[in-house]
Amino acid sequence: MQEAMSNTSIKRNILLNPGPATTTDTVKLAQVVSDICPREKEFARMMKGMREDLVRIVHGDPAVYTAVLFCGSGTINIDICLNSLLPEGKKVLIINNGAYSARAAEICTYYNLPMIELRFPVDSLPDLESVEQTLRENPEIALVHTTHNETGTGILNPIREIGALAHRYGAVFTVDTTSTYAMRPIDIAQENIDFCMASAQKGLMAMTGLSFIVGNRALIEQSANYPKRSYYCNLYLQYHFFETTGEMHFTPPVQTIYAARQALDEYFAEGEQAKWQRHLSVFEAIHAGLERLGFQDIIQRELQAGLVVSVRYPDDANWDFERVHDYCYERGFTIYPGKVSTQDTFRLCALGAISAADIEAFFVVFEEALRKYEIQIPVSYGQE
Ligand SMILES: *Cc1c(COP(=O)(O)O)cnc(C)c1O
Repeated sequence: MQEAMSNTSIKRNILLNPGPATTTDTVKLAQVVSDICPREKEFARMMKGMREDLVRIVHGDPAVYTAVLFCGSGTINIDICLNSLLPEGKKVLIINNGAYSARAAEICTYYNLPMIELRFPVDSLPDLESVEQTLRENPEIALVHTTHNETGTGILNPIREIGALAHRYGAVFTVDTTSTYAMRPIDIAQENIDFCMASAQKGLMAMTGLSFIVGNRALIEQSANYPKRSYYCNLYLQYHFFETTGEMHFTPPVQTIYAARQALDEYFAEGEQAKWQRHLSVFEAIHAGLERLGFQDIIQRELQAGLVVSVRYPDDANWDFERVHDYCYERGFTIYPGKVSTQDTFRLCALGAISAADIEAFFVVFEEALRKYEIQIPVSYGQE
């Protein structure tokens, strides 16, 4: 079957959106397997190895950390961590300087979780003094949550420092690492992370539909007695099921898991440092192309995580993101709208199985689009 399929050529698209990312053909084809009931021991064995590998990626001590798999997109992880890890009568602190932490705050409101939302401008780092002051003045805060790489802008948050503060004041620290995990090297203990999370279609360069939380086993066990606010999205329940049966509580995304297995093998074969250097070289190529055409990005370069570039729309009457997008899309390159409410932006991301050469090829097409629609090059920005 595998051989028959490998003769078919699959058109390669370069996805510059912030996930799902471009995958290798070997990962795509790993989904084509003989039908199997996921309650078979063989499948449980595969998931056991996968859970261990997911801890290994963030250098977690397997005696301290574990990984729990879920069927769903990345947002399910945020939902699960927040609703499962808050003891009765305690509060969540959300450190929000972007769209994904705002989503976490919204999840708290859906569950009616007591919450303090500390908001900071999307183009700057959270102020650690006010984080500390909030923790000091609100001893009922038991869970601190923020986002590592705010994918809406590409800013990298100081999680090690925030985690240290959370721990100093006795709170658990959960971090949305969806857009850094398996790309930017992370050491879970060193970064003071209790729980981090991602989904298979981002850093792992696998398929959509599988998400996972990597975190402190003792804290999960402690949460067994916390209020149960969701049935399907309860961390302890899923963990307990894995630990006692080796299986997901409910039907797993079988074929997606085979692809993720292949992607993990490819991750370790490429190597943590080599993969990160590749992503960085793609990021540098994106910046070089943008600079050549005169585009400006919205986040100070030193604050960028090295994976997402958030670009200002030029001040040009002929600029029309949709038209430029469509021109590129028809030629195999996907660019993505921005996620900043106060400014018009689009994003170019360095996720996926792509290289700097793909970015150079992209800029040829992108520049053609600008010329075709008579957008001035270098692009111009009006009065600041
Ligand atoms: C992609 C992403 C998510 C998950 O988004 P889904 O659409 O639910 O997969 C969550 N957090 C961050 C930081 C992300 O980049």
